[in-house]
Order: sequence, then C-alpha cells, then structure tokens
Amino acid sequence: MSQNTDLLLLTPGPTPIQPDALQALLIPMVGHMDPAVFALNARIQANLKVLYGAAADAFTALVAGTGSLGMETGFANLIEPGDTVVVATNGSFGDRMVEMCERYGAKVIVVRAPIGEAVRLEDVEKALKEHQPKMVSVVHGETSTGVLNPAPEIARMAQDMGILVTVDAVTTAGMMPYEMEKWGIDYAYTGSQKCLSAPPGVAPVAVSARAMEVVRNRKTPVTLWYSDFLGLQAYWDHRDYHHTIPVQLHYSLDAALSAALNEGLDVRARHAAELSVAVARTLETIGFSHFVKNPRERLPSVLSLRLPEGMNDLQVRTALREKGISITGGLDATRGLIWRLGLMGEAARTEHYMRFMRTLDEILG
Ligand code: PLP
Repeated sequence: MSQNTDLLLLTPGPTPIQPDALQALLIPMVGHMDPAVFALNARIQANLKVLYGAAADAFTALVAGTGSLGMETGFANLIEPGDTVVVATNGSFGDRMVEMCERYGAKVIVVRAPIGEAVRLEDVEKALKEHQPKMVSVVHGETSTGVLNPAPEIARMAQDMGILVTVDAVTTAGMMPYEMEKWGIDYAYTGSQKCLSAPPGVAPVAVSARAMEVVRNRKTPVTLWYSDFLGLQAYWDHRDYHHTIPVQLHYSLDAALSAALNEGLDVRARHAAELSVAVARTLETIGFSHFVKNPRERLPSVLSLRLPEGMNDLQVRTALREKGISITGGLDATRGLIWRLGLMGEAARTEHYMRFMRTLDEILG
C-alpha cells in the first residue's frame, strides 16, 4: 500500500486527521447494538452539547454522511411542503441551502448579500417581518468566500419572533464561539472533517427541544427516512435499531471531539484568530490582499485572500502541491481570483503555516 503521508492539508476542509482520531480507525469491529457502542454514543452526545453550547434538553447525534447531509437532515425534518423559509445567503453554501429548501417543497424567500460581504441584519429583519416564515437559515461561516455572517444576531431576532433557526456550523463550531442555546438556534450541524479534524463521513447535529416538538407534530412523514430525527432518536436515546452506524467513524469522531474539548474551545478560537491575522499580514507583504474588506466580517477559520497581480493561481498551487502542501483556490464566483487557506482543527497550527510560508517563498523566489 503506498500513500503520500507527507501531504499537508491547509485547505478549508478536509483537514489533517487528529492523531488520536487516526488511531481510533483501527478499532476492531464492534456491533452497533453493543453496550460499548451505546456508551461511546452517549459520550459523543454529551460532548456535542458542549461543542454547540446546546441546552441540556437538546437532541444531539451523528448522521452518517458529510456536512451536506447535516444540512439536508435539518431541512428534511423541519420543512413541510408549502412552508415559508427565509434563507440569507452570500455564497455557494447559502445557495445550497436555498436549493435544498426548494426540493423539500418550501416557499423560499432569498435574502442575498454581495459575494465577499456579510448578509445584512436589516434585510433579514425586513424579510422576517414581511413573510412571517416558519424558519430562517443562514451559514455562519461562508467557506466559499471566507465571510462570517451575523448568525447570533439573526438567531436572537428570529427566536424573539417565534421563528425556527438553522445555522450551518461547518466552519465555525470548534474553532469559534458557537452558542446554540444562548443565541436561540434550533438546528446546528457540521462535518467531521472540518473543525474537528476527524475523517469525513459523519455529520454531528444538534436539535433544540422546540424543533423536536415541531417534528413530532408534522402533518406529513419526513421523506428522508434515513435521517428522520425521530428514527435517529430511537437509536441514540432509546437504543432501538434504526440503521447500522459506521462504528469506526464514531470512535474516530469521539477521539477528535474529546481532543478539541481538552485543548479548550476558547484556546482554539483565540489561536485560529491570531494565526489568521499573522498569516494575512505576512502574505500582504508580497502582494496578497484581503478578499473580505470589512475586518469584522472575516472568518478566522477560512482566510480568503485576493491573489497578487500577475500571479498564476494554478501554477503556484500546483508547485505547492508538488512540495507536499495542499491549499484551495476560489469556488464558483471567486475561482482564479482568491486563495482560501484553512485554519480549522489540525490545520490551524503555527508550524504548518511556517512551513507554508517557507515553501511559498522558495517557489516565488
Ligand atoms: N456548509 C459549509 C459552510 C461548508 O463549507 C461545506 C463544505 O465545505 C458544507 C456545508 C458541505 O459539507 P460536505 O462537503 O462535508 O458535504
């Protein structure tokens, strides 16, 4: 078996696998109904409440898929055909929310902000007042552009109006403050391979008691049978068979999550924010500039920088890849225009970025 173990991932996901999480993948097979696995699941559920700042009565679980399944699971459970949903979007992942809500039969009101700028609170407020939706959804950290959206403010406003709130936590929970209960969020999700640095394949989710009540009172069954909250709850809370879980991925996620909590969520957040500023300042000296103009709207975990005039995006990234470092360019509207550097989980280590700077310096001469 040959594999390039030297490849350093500084992409906005996936991130390098946390060492304990990598080891955990070797755990011999255990049945999904084994008491040891139920004990593991209970620890994951408790730790996810800490990760998300969720209330004691929130339901937490892993769904067997990536972040997109986390996103889809929320919409599948909380939308019934004909419901009105406001989606605030300013990039590819907000747009993915719009598409999913439409597929589940929602009447979607889109509140759009320009690429590279945060969604405006007053625009969301206007839409909520005018359309009285069942739910509002927003991506906290828009990975495609490196913009931080005002999710706490949107959540607080919507909760006061009795509107359900979904906030994508894919690039934020674990690397930035995320306070589900305090902010008034009803559904949160992420992907294991992002801020937690576990392998891809499970999506940690958290559902408020209020959202669970909405699901119990649905008029129609959830069409995505696999991740129906009530089916998931039967397995996670009541230990009844629902489907066979990917046991090794649960062990691995557990190890990564425990490591993150032991390191301290505040410590990780502070470090990522400081490192992001330091990396940007260094790259500015060779002609890079911030893509996100407003410093308050910059996402520390995904640093998006406009390329210097005349730099060949693909050529330099290919040269970096040949020297064992993987970074990412723009997505959709920002392709060829920016680089996106990931400062999530294990990627957010000073020594990794020192190596990146040295290597870039060698390439650019
Ligand atoms: N939401 C955000 C903000 C993301 O960055 C991503 C992936 O990059 C997703 C959702 C989708 O996650 P996945 O690619 O794990 O399905």
